[in-house]
Amino acid sequence: MARINPEFSKELKKYGGFDLNACYNCGNCTAVCSLSTSENSFPREMVRYSVLGLESEIETSLNPWLCYYCGDCSSTCPREADPGELMMSLRRWLTGKYDWTGLSGLIYRSLTASIIAFVVVAIGVIAFAYAQAFNLETILHIGHYFEMFAIGGVFAIILLPNIIHMWYLTILKPKTKVSLKTYIKSIGDLFVHMFTQKRTLGCDDNKTRWFEHFILVIGYLSLLFTTVFLDWFSAQNLFIILLGYVESAIVFTVTIIFVSGRIQKKKEVSQRSQPSDWFFVIGLLLMGLTAFIVRLFIDLNILDNNVWMYLFHLIILAQWALIIVPFGKWTHFLYRSFAMYFDKLKTLEGVYNE
Ligand code: SF4
Ligand code: SF4
Repeated sequence: MARINPEFSKELKKYGGFDLNACYNCGNCTAVCSLSTSENSFPREMVRYSVLGLESEIETSLNPWLCYYCGDCSSTCPREADPGELMMSLRRWLTGKYDWTGLSGLIYRSLTASIIAFVVVAIGVIAFAYAQAFNLETILHIGHYFEMFAIGGVFAIILLPNIIHMWYLTILKPKTKVSLKTYIKSIGDLFVHMFTQKRTLGCDDNKTRWFEHFILVIGYLSLLFTTVFLDWFSAQNLFIILLGYVESAIVFTVTIIFVSGRIQKKKEVSQRSQPSDWFFVIGLLLMGLTAFIVRLFIDLNILDNNVWMYLFHLIILAQWALIIVPFGKWTHFLYRSFAMYFDKLKTLEGVYNE
């Protein structure tokens, strides 16, 4: 039996701004959405579920993740109900639902909680550097190990259990029978969507946006590989040094485009930026930029006298690894890829033909 939460629309408002009551159910949004299909019809259905407070229908649905936020539905909604932003808010709400710690939901709902978390992490990094008497060599060394343990720890302790929870809600709870063969056969789809986000190309006029995202994902992941596994800040190999410069420059250049897009608000998708959107783009920009400058300082032999620069980078890195990746908007990258995978499982098992 469907669970109804009469307070759902109030709760959802904490995850983004839109007017649910403005919708008069005309269906125009679904008609204009180039990603909506007869098997996965949205966003009108999600607007209805939200108005009615059908929480269990929403938490077991993959549809919020199948929207790539082109904004066409919002710009053509006759009632200005902003269904595109509703889909975005549902993604934030779902992120909070999947997260076993409850911190994701808290960070999305409360700007104060987010600021406190960022400040606590920054103080922690400064206290750590103080305990090491601001010795650059030690801080660099431990900072490098922190990167490795943060990646492994955050994935094993936070992200993996949350993905299992997402799987439980969207596959197990609706009693979808999926054979082991189908899981294995479809696994390639997970990685294709993760690295290419190719579904964005299905949105009209989205080729530039897809390309920017694609370059950013590749730049970000390869920078991560270069700093963590090739130890960029200690590298002597010219190829590795240049590779890191190019990757970090890609990351901060592309994110500057995203930040300016959000400031200018020219596109529908940039009309309503929530604090979590700002934390994500600014965090990514500063990660790329500070990594670039730290390596430049190393090559100019001036980092020893400017330890504060590495400390600044380490603060951004720690905030990114301990807040934005496990609890913030970064998770959308992961959940969206798994949603595409789970959707493929459902398609192959004929769930949509029943
Ligand atoms: S959100 Fe707008 S376009 Fe969609 S059904 Fe409601 S009124 Fe119509
Ligand atoms: S924002 Fe774009 S992809 Fe998402 S529901 Fe609206 S029209 Fe479809």
